[in-house]
Amino acid sequence: MQYIAPLAKLVEQLRALPGIGAKTAVRLAYHVLEMDNDRAQALANAIVEAKAKISYCEICFNLTDSNPCRICAAEARDQSVICVVEEPRDVAAMERTRDFKGRYHVLHGSLSPLEGIGPEEIKIKELLLRLNSEQVSEIIMATNPDVEGEATAMYLAKLLKPLGIKVTRIAHGLPVGGDLEYADEVTLSKALENRREM
Ligand SMILES: [Zn+2]
Repeated sequence: MQYIAPLAKLVEQLRALPGIGAKTAVRLAYHVLEMDNDRAQALANAIVEAKAKISYCEICFNLTDSNPCRICAAEARDQSVICVVEEPRDVAAMERTRDFKGRYHVLHGSLSPLEGIGPEEIKIKELLLRLNSEQVSEIIMATNPDVEGEATAMYLAKLLKPLGIKVTRIAHGLPVGGDLEYADEVTLSKALENRREM
């Protein structure tokens, strides 16, 4: 079906979002058109404002609206432990457990030779740089319990252990192949508590 041009453009933009198929994109586009002007403007503003105000923390690469982020800036947090995760949403999952008192490092992905993602494509170099200026005694690998997450944890352990840093891996209470962000707080707490040295 041919839509009038502005509607077709809106559908196209919505369809480009993850998890939005053609039908949903059309339904959302019509929904937007039904909104009153203030509501539609608020939605557009929220997108523009989030993009303008949120950036990566210069230390841990989590999403933040202040730099360094609140977690890196908090003096009460244990500076000697870094928890390595794949995505900013994994930091949110770990924070929900309230058990982890150290700081984070967000890799923004995991090693995946099949998809052409090598060490240069994720924030590994940035983690190594941090170790030059920070006194870190333990690094906890909290990458996802799937093939890529395991490979990433192993790769990092090999790099970090010669530096005299204790490298641990969160326990496998997590469902294999599952994402960290979908684990409930109790499971994630247990996985953290039962971490083992790599
Ligand atoms: Zn930070």
